[in-house]
Amino acid sequence: MNQESNVKGGEFIIKETQANQVFIPEEFSEEQTMMAQATTEFVDREVWPNKHRFEKKDYAFTLSLLKQTGELGLLGIYVPEQYGGLGMGFNTSMLVCDRISGATGSLSTAYGAHTGIGILPILLYGNEEQKLKYLPKLASGEWIGAYCLTEPGAGSDANSGKTKAVPSSDGKSFSITGQKMWISNAGYADLFIVFARIEEDKNITGFIVEKGTAGISMGEEEDKMGIKASSTRQVFFNDVVVPAENLLGERNGGFKIAMNALNVGRIKLAAACLDANRRIITESVNYANNRHQFNQPIAQFGAIKQKLARMAMKHWISETATYRAGQDIENQIASFEAQGLSPQQAKLKGVEEYAIECAILKVHASEAASYIADEGVQIFGGMGYSADAKMESAYRDVRIARIYEGTNEINRMLTVGMMLKKAMKGELNLIGPAMSVGKELMEIPSFDLPDADTLFAEEKDSLKNLKKAFLMVAGKAVEKFGMHVEEEQEILMAAADMLMEIYHLESGILRAEKIMAMGKDASLQTDMLRLFWLEAVEKIASAGREAIYSFAEGDEQTVMLMGLKRFTKIRHNINVKDVRRRVADKLIAENKYCF
Ligand SMILES: Cc1cc2nc3c(=O)[nH]c(=O)nc-3n(C[C@H](O)[C@H](O)[C@H](O)COP(=O)(O)OP(=O)(O)OC[C@H]3O[C@@H](n4cnc5c(N)ncnc54)[C@H](O)[C@@H]3O)c2cc1C
Repeated sequence: MNQESNVKGGEFIIKETQANQVFIPEEFSEEQTMMAQATTEFVDREVWPNKHRFEKKDYAFTLSLLKQTGELGLLGIYVPEQYGGLGMGFNTSMLVCDRISGATGSLSTAYGAHTGIGILPILLYGNEEQKLKYLPKLASGEWIGAYCLTEPGAGSDANSGKTKAVPSSDGKSFSITGQKMWISNAGYADLFIVFARIEEDKNITGFIVEKGTAGISMGEEEDKMGIKASSTRQVFFNDVVVPAENLLGERNGGFKIAMNALNVGRIKLAAACLDANRRIITESVNYANNRHQFNQPIAQFGAIKQKLARMAMKHWISETATYRAGQDIENQIASFEAQGLSPQQAKLKGVEEYAIECAILKVHASEAASYIADEGVQIFGGMGYSADAKMESAYRDVRIARIYEGTNEINRMLTVGMMLKKAMKGELNLIGPAMSVGKELMEIPSFDLPDADTLFAEEKDSLKNLKKAFLMVAGKAVEKFGMHVEEEQEILMAAADMLMEIYHLESGILRAEKIMAMGKDASLQTDMLRLFWLEAVEKIASAGREAIYSFAEGDEQTVMLMGLKRFTKIRHNINVKDVRRRVADKLIAENKYCF
């Protein structure tokens, strides 16, 4: 039985979470599993055998697939029933996003742009009339949505857009003029969420704009590196008159809408890497089992086993952390509703609470997926470089994940920045724990060994210390620079790397522990967790050193480096080669991803 986590957004760095407080993928209900299976069957039947059509920029094919997902109910999974959707929970919507990604590339982006940044602004900020008018059409797939935020001069700096919305003298309408760029689904969209600035407002404002309104025109389809059948165009607005009732949320409130839609977009992007990973691993294992060199399947070579095991480990950890956060969000939404918030407000605030985790997941999952696709190409050898094999397009398709929904640099800085802001507002007690760590540095280290009877005692003890390493580095950096630390991007990036590894490590430990508590065998999951642990400790040590050398000097530097060494010291007798081989041998025997 799951106990709701009392660990709020960002608090994982100062609090301990128990295994019974996290959700793990082994706990998906029958209904959720059926949704996942239905999605996978659709991808296997309609998409996977026809994937080559994506490469030919067959936008009609993408559109027909989107329409079919609408008929299956997959577009409206998270839309409440009164607006024509299935009204399912947050984690179920993540699960569908995950399985759609098995198609890799174009469909996933088109689906994400429609259900995420297309539908969500209306779902989260629309008034009743707007929701009744637009959501049923979007949930069924009768209409396809697009989201127009980026401009030629406003990418990462999204609030700096130049698109203008001029109110009419009678106040009944706005005239929108401007240029939007990189708009997914643009070629076949029926509705655009458009962000524009009214007069000299500080922030942009959101509008719902219907296709066919006079003054909208499109650029040519972009010639992209990958995700080729996801339509991406510039959209031009030239005196496009939009009724005042199509203003979304509040005037001057568009940046908030954009950012909140992106919070969801980020965690959904993490989900949207998952089935792509599984399929790449399965294709790689299958290829390695069938490709013979030196009179044996290449799967029998240690160098290949090592790759397969790391691919599986990276995916397993990504999946673990993604669904942990997804369920935390779902629980938080339920808790806000129980406290009397409207379902709309609860959905909004539930995700906002875990915005730090959403950014962490986006970065980690997109980088894990890039690694997995890259090694997939390598296992295929020369065939990996051929457009005839699926690896080549997977490698190109995955590259975008590190760029959109906020680049990984922006998201890295956001994770630490949001955490510090929460601390400044008194919502997260970072200062107390950071000061305790500072004090601990001056004391003689404890030589107590972790209790050998506790499950994952060494890993948990190490996790506690890794959190201290982060608190030491972040705490000292803030002490030195104050809020100007935001200008010290190299330090923030290093701190973000530490934070991401910690969240994922904790998630992995808790999943393995919970699988065991369910009475199931978790030996290979434990192997993967331990592989991740060893790599995470190395990364945290290296990122910590990078940060310390960037701002500390003299005695302070010496003390901090000694502290880092202490906090990243681990005891183990893990033979990494044997552990990787065990994981790989299971994949090879099953001839597919199987965890
Ligand atoms: C295929 C595709 C589909 C897209 N779909 C949509 C869509 O549907 N709707 C939409 O509105 N947008 C969409 N985008 C736009 C996407 O969100 C932006 O490309 C992204 O936010 C980055 O903006 P930019 O391209 O202007 O890069 P820039 O902002 O110019 O960034 C360039 C580099 O500078 C770095 N950088 C920028 N600012 C900082 C900073 N403050 N500190 C440190 N480094 C920084 C970035 O991390 C990056 O490495 C899409 C883009 C692509 C390629």
